[in-house]
Amino acid sequence: MMLYIACFIFGLITGSFLNVCIYRMPRDLSIVSPSSRCVSCGTPVRFYDNIPALSYILLMGKCRQCKAKLSVRYPLVEFLNAVLYVLVLNRFGYDSPWVLLVYFAFTSSLIVIFFIDLEHQIIPDSITLPGIPLAIILGSTILPDPFLRVESLGFKASITGFLAGGGGFYLIAILGRAILKKDAMGGGDIKMMAMVGGLLGWKGVILTTFMGSLLGSITGVSLILLKGREWGSKIPFGPYLALGALAALLWGEDILRWYIY
Ligand SMILES: [Zn+2]
Repeated sequence: MMLYIACFIFGLITGSFLNVCIYRMPRDLSIVSPSSRCVSCGTPVRFYDNIPALSYILLMGKCRQCKAKLSVRYPLVEFLNAVLYVLVLNRFGYDSPWVLLVYFAFTSSLIVIFFIDLEHQIIPDSITLPGIPLAIILGSTILPDPFLRVESLGFKASITGFLAGGGGFYLIAILGRAILKKDAMGGGDIKMMAMVGGLLGWKGVILTTFMGSLLGSITGVSLILLKGREWGSKIPFGPYLALGALAALLWGEDILRWYIY
């Protein structure tokens, strides 16, 4: 129980850093300096106003100086990250703290990708480019196969996943351009899926794509029905892929078992 609480608090604290990444990365600002400040008036946030989730409630969602409304995304990201850390712990146990930390970093990077792509339609290279070699190194060494937890993923499965993710989405991009005469798939999606494949293997790529497409279609059709959006209006795919990858990591084994039997 203590471990769950510790993971939750750790998730809140790193979630606070994710907010910095989500705001600064697409604006090409440094994520280490300067310290957090209000995006409206530029006043540095005091340490006692920078407590994850709690400060937002105490300040009632307003900057202490200029009273500008703080985005509800801040506490949301922190809370979401904390919940995901608890789910990762629940799923993979505490046998290896390193595996746990790698999956924490992975889920956190998916949260950052989700919110940045949703708002700016880009997936930052600063996550995926270091992420791809790291995914293959970690996938080949310490990580388990997330769908057969007892076995390790290994170099072959990690490389196959990398090729399936990167190559598969590269093919979709080329086909999409040939058939639709427009860019259906961005380079960011290709790099992101190469990273996901290196970490989760080819089964992870298939599951992520399947879950992402399913979520994307459901959301797309609902938006068309509810808000009268047009068919073919541009919706970034990255956020759905990020959710798909989270589902694959956390529930992939169950989904596969349910699907096969
Ligand atoms: Zn302010």
